[in-house]
Amino acid sequence: MRFHWHTHHLTLTNPWGIARGVSKEKEGWVFEIEHAGVIGHGEAAHTKRNGESLESVKLDFERVAAAAAGKDDPRALLDALPFIGINGASAAAIDVALHDWLAQQAGVALHDFLGIKASPLPITSFSIGIDDAETIARKVEEAAEYPILKVKLGTDRDREIIGAVRSVTNKPLRVDANEGWATRKEALEQVKWLAGEGIELVEQPLPAHRIADVAWLRERSPLPIVADEDAMTSANLRELAVAYDGINIKLAKCGGLREAVRMLDLADELGLRVMLGCMIESSLGITAAAHLGARAEWLDLDGNLLVSDDSYVGLRCDRGVLTLPNAPGLGVTLVSPGRD
Ligand code: MG
Repeated sequence: MRFHWHTHHLTLTNPWGIARGVSKEKEGWVFEIEHAGVIGHGEAAHTKRNGESLESVKLDFERVAAAAAGKDDPRALLDALPFIGINGASAAAIDVALHDWLAQQAGVALHDFLGIKASPLPITSFSIGIDDAETIARKVEEAAEYPILKVKLGTDRDREIIGAVRSVTNKPLRVDANEGWATRKEALEQVKWLAGEGIELVEQPLPAHRIADVAWLRERSPLPIVADEDAMTSANLRELAVAYDGINIKLAKCGGLREAVRMLDLADELGLRVMLGCMIESSLGITAAAHLGARAEWLDLDGNLLVSDDSYVGLRCDRGVLTLPNAPGLGVTLVSPGRD
């Protein structure tokens, strides 16, 4: 087994504003596993919020390469990966690359390898980041082809933002507060107001680890409440099930496909509704998540649609309808070599 990794650069088409801050570009890592003439690919979409950086991902890759030195068994490395103790985004890149390799070696598409159907997939939402009212209205008009929007809130201008969106469209909206409301009382006021604005669900209304407050909110909320920053892995889903209606599963949070499937199974058992989400990432990472898409109720797989220099070709998106590639493994190919 040989490992390679390189950085790639993603430019946001519009500056990306969420409750935590604004970004215009993102540098990420691609991880490759080469063995027996087959190359598997995975993407690490690290986030500062989760204590990750370009440097920490690189160190994680080096740790895994050291742990796997002299071994030539991708499946054994996949089994060992959780015990090497690396961060979610790094683990996701390696887990996805290993799954891509194993499925290509087996000659089947990744979703088949995982025992998941290719279709039907829920329609993905398209995200509208925080901005001034005029820019938001323009972005909503530019997103005319997408039937469902996810609007970022959690600011002191939430009513202005929804007003700007509603000035140009009546389509269904989902709201993501990204931990931006401070108290359960404030969150309840916002949720009650949003229920009258044609909103389908509210994601992460309060800062993570405020489970009792979310349970209080959910008892009074007319809208489903979905955990994102609170739902990192399968470890605390039983606790979340008493407070939340659903969870947002992301490969970069949980560490890859194996843990994501564990979360899907446990969510089914606990009656938690499931969204599959993403970070700002290329079609490499988005395609990996989409292979799980048939098991989700909601998809928010739009990271690749928000950048102007997607470095991979994989899944297709036509008016929010995702189609998986028809090829062994992930089914992704590199468009441009990226930057080393
Ligand atoms: Mg979110």
